[in-house]
Amino acid sequence: MSISLTWLVTGASRGIGFNIVQQLLRSPDNVVIAACRNLKSAQALMALELAPDTSGKLYLVQMDVTDETSISSAKNEVETMLGEAGLDYLINNAGVAVRNDTPATLAPKDLTATIIANVAGPALVTRAFIPLIARSNRKVIANISTAMASIGVDYGGEHSSYSISKAALNMLTYKQSKEWPDLIPFVVDPGWVKTDMGGSNATLEPHESAAGIIQVVSSATASNAGCFIDYKGEMVPW
Ligand code: NDP
Repeated sequence: MSISLTWLVTGASRGIGFNIVQQLLRSPDNVVIAACRNLKSAQALMALELAPDTSGKLYLVQMDVTDETSISSAKNEVETMLGEAGLDYLINNAGVAVRNDTPATLAPKDLTATIIANVAGPALVTRAFIPLIARSNRKVIANISTAMASIGVDYGGEHSSYSISKAALNMLTYKQSKEWPDLIPFVVDPGWVKTDMGGSNATLEPHESAAGIIQVVSSATASNAGCFIDYKGEMVPW
């Protein structure tokens, strides 16, 4: 008998998160909890349940990663869904890029909103789900970041608030790996992807990035903890 693997993907309504959920559901081994902040706009997710290539189990849960009450309710709902089973893989994918700014043009309110969604969000979601993750044999936490957060890759001065927030997410991930040494928190760069955020000039189709992320996340071991890895499994410089 195959043992189910349990996944929670935040920001699953569209883009990379939606594609991760869609691909995970092609395996009967996967139980996938797709979290989105507005269930009313999750028609595409709901349609996945009836898709001919869906063989995994899908649960939808409402979760706004900027709202602690919403996170707490989602955690209780997921705990009820999973029963004694732990959460094997948490993918903190939800994220925002408010505006393309530079150090000369950034506005504190944009910087703050970006940090709340991209840093405080994954911090609070992870903390809330720690009891469920601790029950699992895998204990993998993938925080979706970007190469724009890397000084080594060097994207220049644009997208400042966004890059600053994701650099902070990277540090959060490092701190999580120290706080919970039995878990495997690491950072994943999904590449430049054709989504609402990435735009139509991006180099990757969402399904390509999602496939790479699933491969990297599902094969993560303790040696990945605190690392910055791209969707192809290659190390990204900090
Ligand atoms: P999209 O803009 O296409 O989708 C963003 C997703 O995040 C949506 O599902 C959105 O939900 C959700 N979201 C935003 N804020 C919240 C919130 N407060 N609570 C819950 N969900 C929220 O982006 P992508 O799919 O392109 O990006 C996914 C991740 O990948 C992000 O973390 C992004 O920073 C990262 N990334 C993307 C790149 C790209 O080229 N596309 C490159 C590098 C990193 P809703 O539908 O409700 O708005």
